[in-house]
Amino acid sequence: MHLKSLTVKGFKSFASATTLRLEPGITCVVGPNGSGKSNVVDAIAWVLGEQGAKALRGGKMEDVIFAGTSGRAPLGRAEVTLTIDNNDGALPIDYTEVSITRRMFRDGASEYEINGNPCRLLDIQELLSDSGIGREMHIIVGQGRLDAMLHAKPEDRRAFIEEAAGVLKHRKRKEKAIRK
Ligand code: ATP
Ligand code: MG
Repeated sequence: MHLKSLTVKGFKSFASATTLRLEPGITCVVGPNGSGKSNVVDAIAWVLGEQGAKALRGGKMEDVIFAGTSGRAPLGRAEVTLTIDNNDGALPIDYTEVSITRRMFRDGASEYEINGNPCRLLDIQELLSDSGIGREMHIIVGQGRLDAMLHAKPEDRRAFIEEAAGVLKHRKRKEKAIRK
């Protein structure tokens, strides 16, 4: 499984529809300060269902919608589509390519789609839950977080790595089983 492409439209600084094609392996995004590099990462977190405005570096959820510039009027909605290559069947769905879309309007309502079919956030969470790319999987290490991790106590660092690796839930299951 790997991320194939990301399309952003009306999301933060991306007023016009922009598609980033991602290849297997490492992708680097380079650019001057304030050019929108972190906004790309925010778009991935958002389309995967992020509900916290702070996690998206905003004050309120509406802040993800393009707010306008001196030359361009604000937009009424943000839309992000993330396409995932599922040739290895890591996602429990009968498609070799899976597109997840989230759309949000200024009244705060969000719409979600899997391969173009309207669905609930819960459906997306369930689809991703054992794939390692769910919303609370620590897949995104933000600016400054790396520093915090390097300075953390060894136990905390271990918990962080275990959670990212998906070990934590098995540890919890084991502890529960032993208690019984
Ligand atoms: P750095 O190198 O400093 O980390 P960066 O490339 O990561 O910079 P971002 O934080 O991704 O930059 O982008 C910040 C830019 O996005 C700012 O110019 C900000 O005005 C713009 N921006 C954020 N939200 C919106 C929005 N809702 N509408 C329009 N522009 C926005
Ligand atoms: Mg940044």
